[in-house]
Amino acid sequence: MSPTIYRHAVSHPRIPKDDMRRAGEALQAEKSECSEKARLLAKYKIAALDYGRVVSVLSERAGVMSEEEYVRIRDYIEVAHVITDRARTMLDRHVAEHGC
Ligand SMILES: [Zn+2]
Repeated sequence: MSPTIYRHAVSHPRIPKDDMRRAGEALQAEKSECSEKARLLAKYKIAALDYGRVVSVLSERAGVMSEEEYVRIRDYIEVAHVITDRARTMLDRHVAEHGC
């Protein structure tokens, strides 16, 4: 965990739109038969990475962070979990309906 990532996770408790856009572009660049699936997959990947990142921040810093920091990160983990779940559900639903 680099200090940059740590600061980022703490001071900006949202999935960065720039990361989302870049990941989307990267996936669009790959050959995909379904652009909607690629879009949903990109969203899911970003959400899952973000979730994993903030969970590791909490586990690495649990003993040394302030209570305020801890509560903030814990709340963000809950949000990140919901976003990740939702992204996966949307991806699964699309694949099931579209058969792609
Ligand atoms: Zn599709």
